[in-house]
Amino acid sequence: MFVTRKAEFSASHVCTQPGLTPEQNRAVYGPASNPNGHGHNYVLEVTLEGEPDPATGMIIDLKELKEIINREVVEPMDHRFLNHEVPPFDRVVPTVENVAAEIWRRIEPAFGGSRAHLHNVRLYETEDLYVDYSGDRPGDRAGDRA
Ligand SMILES: [Zn+2]
Repeated sequence: MFVTRKAEFSASHVCTQPGLTPEQNRAVYGPASNPNGHGHNYVLEVTLEGEPDPATGMIIDLKELKEIINREVVEPMDHRFLNHEVPPFDRVVPTVENVAAEIWRRIEPAFGGSRAHLHNVRLYETEDLYVDYSGDRPGDRAGDRA
């Protein structure tokens, strides 16, 4: 069974690669490369998979899930300029793909001891654009390739 909790945060970012010229960054990222940044109202959906505890009828304590998302994502990222205030985005381009993967890395360890495990992180950057991230597949990691 799957359970999903939604959260929202607002943050600013600039999408550029330090090794590229402003013109090259504009060609790759378009207006998102404007050095003064721009904001998004991000919508996050965190999906856990597990079997409900027969006693409580719950996969996870939903209050605990909310606290984990607030502590690991909303508090550190809400009303922040990601490139300047939220590592690793001082060196990693804060595309919606990279922000979703960072959210996964931040919250995944919190579910180690519970009945549920993290199944998916969905992050909307705009109403009509989102990414889904379900963690690295074993074969995707560079270290796993011979
Ligand atoms: Zn943007």
